[in-house]
Amino acid sequence: MGVKTVFTQNTQAMNDVPVISKKKEPRTEAMTKNNNPAEEEIITIEGPAGLFDRSKTMKLEEIREEIGDCTRCKLHEGRTNLVFGDGNPKAKLVFVGEGPGRDEDMQGKPFVGRSGKLLTKIIEAMGLKREDVYICNVVKCRPPDNRTPEPDEMSTCEQFLFKQIISIKPDVIVCLGATAAKSILRTKASLGSLRGKFHMYSGTKLMVTYHPAALLRNPNFKKPAWEDMQVVMKELGLPLPKKINQGD
Ligand code: SF4
Repeated sequence: MGVKTVFTQNTQAMNDVPVISKKKEPRTEAMTKNNNPAEEEIITIEGPAGLFDRSKTMKLEEIREEIGDCTRCKLHEGRTNLVFGDGNPKAKLVFVGEGPGRDEDMQGKPFVGRSGKLLTKIIEAMGLKREDVYICNVVKCRPPDNRTPEPDEMSTCEQFLFKQIISIKPDVIVCLGATAAKSILRTKASLGSLRGKFHMYSGTKLMVTYHPAALLRNPNFKKPAWEDMQVVMKELGLPLPKKINQGD
């Protein structure tokens, strides 16, 4: 049936093991423009039954209450504010980053620094307002000195991301950056090989693209990132602009 690999996840907080399948699928339109092979690996993450029982969907406020004054991983030690997430609880589109930075930690809101301003511009270029979407991170507390969240921290905190996604029921998730993508898709594949096509996460289509901070560091990433967003826009039924300013 085209299934290449089926294996189980081996992380600390995943006793209820998600099933991961990787199979060859045709690429999406945005990627047919380059010279990469016509088929790429699509990753599907299914949820453990208890956590993904949709009859037990929690409201976002209930999930926030469950997190409480969390000390489940060591990231709680350095946080000023826990950054749960922000936006429309019925959003069709959810953006997921890896974790809060300094500005986010200070304000208790995701993506409010320079990267956040660029993300807002991207959202607006898609024809949406920031209030239309939901924005959150894999880990809810800032790693010290903005280091990359460690695997045990991400696997401990990810249960809340799963629950947020189930609560919101978006049509599309956009995963920002390699760290978040590798963690939630349980892969070591490069961002370049993951982007440009939909994977499946908890029954929802998931696009991987560059983190806004990477776009600020390297403007050459803007074109492929915009191609990814156009695939997302098409999936959401949003009109595609005839022309974009690559300098933005
Ligand atoms: S990062 Fe997540 S699991 Fe760790 S302390 Fe913060 S809320 Fe709890």
